[in-house]
Amino acid sequence: MHESPLCAAVLDAVVHRANGRRVAEITVAVGVAHRAVDVAFQQMFDHMAEDTVADGCVVVLREIPYRFGCAACGQSGELADALPLCPACDEVVRVSGGDEIVLESLTYAGS
Ligand SMILES: [Zn+2]
Repeated sequence: MHESPLCAAVLDAVVHRANGRRVAEITVAVGVAHRAVDVAFQQMFDHMAEDTVADGCVVVLREIPYRFGCAACGQSGELADALPLCPACDEVVRVSGGDEIVLESLTYAGS
């Protein structure tokens, strides 16, 4: 499945940071390029996290948009998709980001 390597990377980070504590919930910032669908990611994570400190952990995904900078008009900001057109002047812009994976927070069970 598409989410598998992403999910494995997140789980690795969770297990490492938790250092033996039980994890109840995590928040993960994921670039839109990964197209991590919440339900699919949660199901995959549930499966992979069995018998780890993150067994039964709730996954909250926060999507990070692409960023762009326009050479024509100087506009910069965020784009929800990879269509590389400047919203200000319709010139083709350079798009970056969207491929981040950041484990933003962990909530430990019983805390
Ligand atoms: Zn522009």
